[in-house]
Amino acid sequence: MPEIKFENVNKIYENGYHAVHDLNLTIKDGEFIILVGPSGCGKSTTLRMLAGLESISGGELKIANKVVNALKPKERGIAMVFQSYALYPTMTVYDNLAFSLRLAGVDEDTISKNVKAISNVLEIEKYLPRKPKALSGGQQQRVALGRALIRKAKVFLMDEPLSNLDALQRVNMRTEIRVIHNITGATTVYVTHDQIEAMTMADRIVVMKDGYIQQIGTPKELYFHPTNLFVAGFIGDPQMNFIKGHVEDGVFISSKDKTMIKLPGFDKALLDRVATHKEVIMGFRPESCALGKTEQKNFLNLSMIVEVSEMLGDTLNIYGKLGENDLVFRTNPFTKHTVNKPLDFYVPYDRILFFDSTSENIVE
Ligand code: ADP
Repeated sequence: MPEIKFENVNKIYENGYHAVHDLNLTIKDGEFIILVGPSGCGKSTTLRMLAGLESISGGELKIANKVVNALKPKERGIAMVFQSYALYPTMTVYDNLAFSLRLAGVDEDTISKNVKAISNVLEIEKYLPRKPKALSGGQQQRVALGRALIRKAKVFLMDEPLSNLDALQRVNMRTEIRVIHNITGATTVYVTHDQIEAMTMADRIVVMKDGYIQQIGTPKELYFHPTNLFVAGFIGDPQMNFIKGHVEDGVFISSKDKTMIKLPGFDKALLDRVATHKEVIMGFRPESCALGKTEQKNFLNLSMIVEVSEMLGDTLNIYGKLGENDLVFRTNPFTKHTVNKPLDFYVPYDRILFFDSTSENIVE
């Protein structure tokens, strides 16, 4: 199976809009890669350039070491699944699945075998005689997946394939798409704006913003080692806590209200490097905090005044203020807390990150 390589790929639309800047990305054989980022960051443009549906303005796109910039979509061995299912409404599910094989001149016996095999994997056998409009959104999306799978393409591209489904269907399809990927082993490039989809499905995630790649990494790498403030804030829910300030004589002083946060025993070399930055943002995740106070070394004790809480069943998010800084603490649903009263919690030092407030890059 081929490796896909973007080398300094740029996209400038006819109106002059520079949608993708110097994109460098190597997608390994069989990998499940997810491009994620807010709306307008260039994800679909990147996918469409890979599919051949959009021209490449600069740089090279290689599939199996061959430059494919000028190849037509159907010459690239790629199958694409879109957000809208794009099924043929007048054809039955069977005929929708069979369509591309018929076009390729495959005989009806072989088509029938293939349709059966695919519909078995996707559990849509009983819908084969139906027209698409007699199916739910989730069922239609499964047929759309089936139509891509039946072509046995070496590369699958998926653009927000789950965004028209309801929450439960989305969760189910996430697993199904991963299972199918494990069966086919086909390289898959998937676009979504949903970081949870990215975290749960991808082998590696490419985080994009304003046409630039921010970071490429496994879900774990992005979660534990974000390289900048954007990635740190984009991955994780609720968002990472951020407190703006600076470090002076080993003490973090918040910019908003001069709250002093002492960090005794914190990695001195790192703190010295942080102190060379005029202003930094301290970050730690709501779920890295534990309830109460600790005497243990290498933990930061904090206290916030509780404002509001959010009960999610398995977890409880407690929002509050440390001086003028907003904080959120993610804890178990039985945690006792009272609005307008202080709540103590602590954070391990090794889960505290610092970012330069101007460049927004991590301070290491
Ligand atoms: P995403 O998929 O991340 O939401 P897109 O790749 O669709 O983003 O778009 C990236 C940027 O390029 C957006 O600002 C969008 O408005 C712009 N754009 C997309 N298509 C065109 C086009 N045909 N002409 C001009 N600008 C476009």
